Amino acid sequence: MTDHYAVIGNPISHTKSPLIHGLFAQEARQDMQYTAIEGPVEPDTAFADVVRKFAAGGGKGMNVTAPFKLKAFAMADERSERAALSGAVNAMKFEGGRILADNFDGIGLVRDIEINLGLPMAGKRVLMLGAGGAARGALLPFLEAKPAELVIANRDVAKAQALAAQVAGRGAVVACGYADLEAMGRFDLVVNATSASLTGDLPPVPPSIFRPDGMAYELAYGKRLTPFLRLARNAGVRNLADGVGMLVEQAAEAFAWWRGVRPDTRPVIDRLTVPLD
Ligand code: NDP
Repeated sequence: MTDHYAVIGNPISHTKSPLIHGLFAQEARQDMQYTAIEGPVEPDTAFADVVRKFAAGGGKGMNVTAPFKLKAFAMADERSERAALSGAVNAMKFEGGRILADNFDGIGLVRDIEINLGLPMAGKRVLMLGAGGAARGALLPFLEAKPAELVIANRDVAKAQALAAQVAGRGAVVACGYADLEAMGRFDLVVNATSASLTGDLPPVPPSIFRPDGMAYELAYGKRLTPFLRLARNAGVRNLADGVGMLVEQAAEAFAWWRGVRPDTRPVIDRLTVPLD
């Protein structure tokens, strides 16, 4: 019998998730169907109604994208620790009338950096720009990778400080504003987890943060050389990446959680990659 899954968001026409999960299902020989649902933004309870209806109709799981990650968190019966810390959910599993929830964005990002791109974070100086949902989701998986230091910089410094305080004791993490970065030396890995690139903007970072032999990672994907990646390249960084690998890896985590089989991500990443230049 075919099992049903879906991604829910609004808007949703841009989503690559049905393509990604379709390729995974083909490769892993899973009898499943995966569709995209445009979720209702109003009234407030409508999102939860659509999710419950999907589950009641036999749906096995859902991915959740903007703007519903917080609503999915709120309606879950059980949440993983990383979902609890991020306050956001990007994957749900429906089991015995209960909603189990997780957030695979951060672990997907770590897998892309460490496994696909070959930069183990242990002992490295890591800078994360931004303190929104994506940064929150990445925090715990980043600290579990044991960097020498994790610096979170954000325009609204109080948000970065609140994040750092939440994980105090889990690793070496500090928060700062962009103006402080000039004095903080170079980082082995700089991750742009702001949404600045979506509007063609650049977080106000000095080029002195980059090590030429380090890596610059842009969470947005398919946007070629964003202002952030261009700044890094002009600072001599050769190892540049965008978030397509993170997108595919988080999908693979959800797929493995639902189906008990880990799909091969490489061919799917290759298929979706838009060259930076
Ligand atoms: P949020 O809206 O939750 O957070 C936005 C963050 O960006 C905040 O820290 C905000 O700072 C900062 N910001 C926005 N504009 C600027 C600017 N012009 N200069 C400096 N900082 C800015 O967004 P998300 O965390 O959900 O998404 C962040 C990025 O990650 C997006 O590009 C998104 O596409 C990408 N993403 C990629 C995924 C993937 O699979 N590859 C998955 C999820 C997200 P402040 O708090 O000061 O306002």
